[in-house]
Amino acid sequence: MNCEICESNENVVEFEVAPGYKLNICENCLNQYKTKNYNENHMQCLNNSMWSENPATKILIYKILKDLGWNDLLDMMYLEDKELAIANQEDVVLKDANGNVLQNGDNVTVIKDLEVKGAGKTIKRGTTVKNIRMCDVEGHVNCRVDGIGQVYLKAEFLKKI
Ligand SMILES: [Zn+2]
Repeated sequence: MNCEICESNENVVEFEVAPGYKLNICENCLNQYKTKNYNENHMQCLNNSMWSENPATKILIYKILKDLGWNDLLDMMYLEDKELAIANQEDVVLKDANGNVLQNGDNVTVIKDLEVKGAGKTIKRGTTVKNIRMCDVEGHVNCRVDGIGQVYLKAEFLKKI
């Protein structure tokens, strides 16, 4: 598979730019986006990929063009209202106990015993939680804990592994 941003076929991964919006992207492009440290020569590829029909790709490109301040290209893009609303959302940056940025799909461990309100259960320190998700609850991630179910956990009590 090829990167939907620059067409490279090296180190291409699936990336979820917003819940339900996935695209294939190479690690080079993804890193630039995540660190906001762009190589403007490389990003000339957006001149072609901005015409993609994949909503996820359009959303990501819109965000990158905004980061770069390339308004001429931004003005030429066409996004549905819903896509535009997502593209204009500020990226939620959640950090774990060590200050590492957490992302959808990360695996973490819990750094202290956490009581699950209303369930009479405790998530023990050291529990591994897989595949966390960003959510609407401020400062929390959404995830599934074995033996407990779907819970919201405070990012500051987690450690990325
Ligand atoms: Zn790429």
